[in-house]
Amino acid sequence: MGALEAAVEKLNPPKQIGPFLLRYCERNPRIGQGAGSRGVEGERLIFCYQNAFELALARFQSKPHLRELPKNPIPVYLLDILALPYGSPFMSVNVKGDPFIVLPSRIAQFTPQAELEYAAACAVHEFLHVLREVVRPYAELMLWRWFDEATAVWGESLVVEGNRTCYEYYLDWSDKPEVPIDNEMQSYGAALFVRYLTVRQDEGFVSRVWKEAKRGESPLQTIKRLLPKNQKEGIFHDYCVDSYFAQAGGRPTLFAEVHEHYGGRAISESFDAARGGTIEFSTEVDPLACRFYRFYPGPGVTRMEATLDDDASGVRASLAGVGAGLSRTVKQGKKPVVRVGKPPMDHVILVLSNDGSRKLTDTKISVRVSAA
Ligand SMILES: [Zn+2]
Repeated sequence: MGALEAAVEKLNPPKQIGPFLLRYCERNPRIGQGAGSRGVEGERLIFCYQNAFELALARFQSKPHLRELPKNPIPVYLLDILALPYGSPFMSVNVKGDPFIVLPSRIAQFTPQAELEYAAACAVHEFLHVLREVVRPYAELMLWRWFDEATAVWGESLVVEGNRTCYEYYLDWSDKPEVPIDNEMQSYGAALFVRYLTVRQDEGFVSRVWKEAKRGESPLQTIKRLLPKNQKEGIFHDYCVDSYFAQAGGRPTLFAEVHEHYGGRAISESFDAARGGTIEFSTEVDPLACRFYRFYPGPGVTRMEATLDDDASGVRASLAGVGAGLSRTVKQGKKPVVRVGKPPMDHVILVLSNDGSRKLTDTKISVRVSAA
């Protein structure tokens, strides 16, 4: 018997909550042996999980999502997850292929409030993996693993509004934009890409991507196919550019709080751009990643232009002016040659992105930025 089966065997009989079969044991039962960290203390955590599952069910079973549940009830085991090999909450399937969820019986956080927020986030997160399992079993996940985590994290604060458990992932999102979002480290922070899609389209778009994906497609291929014509190709680049801004059109963007928390997206390199000067450098942009280069225009600069070399196919570039008080984007077109307009401007940002069209990694591209 494996460690998981052995731990499940010690739990009380299931308590049914809608389609969920919740199993746990008490830390200090009135009679009998104490369960220590395997047990649940009081009712608070149970109510929290129950509430999170009910909210998630209500949200994702109705329009615009209309997601299907597994045919059989979903067992939910509350266990001492640190004593299990995986060491984190998880969703998996049993020998018959039925999904089950494992959540922590005890949670260490700074405050009871943080504990309950974390618990609710875990419940919603794993439930979203269950919904994914219905449309795309784990064996076919491969290319979709990052989008699976991104969707699950996005769901956490959608279902439980204001839940900030996901902020732990946004530190890497802020600091490592050059790491591809299909890298495990960045896949959780890609929840912001999922949120971006829902803001630009609608909340149900994410469920459509899951339900309408065709065999052999990658998430971005499905996303592009389902988007309106004028948004398809540049969607990842638009996201990368917009993610630089905490403000747009005088209003906070969906990235504003993350910027405030961690200081915005990390810059690969900064330069002074003197009038009449040209800055040349070479760089790499991995598939599903982006980079930001910052330029401070010198006195008299009214126009800046970026040019990528001929070998840079698959990489998109935008220049944008960033206001001293108010950030605004003045990016233009899809071509790697763009102009940036008038002051007042604090700096100019060059955004380079690769939506996966460029497969080559470790191949440098050359960039020239001139100021006139
Ligand atoms: Zn997950």
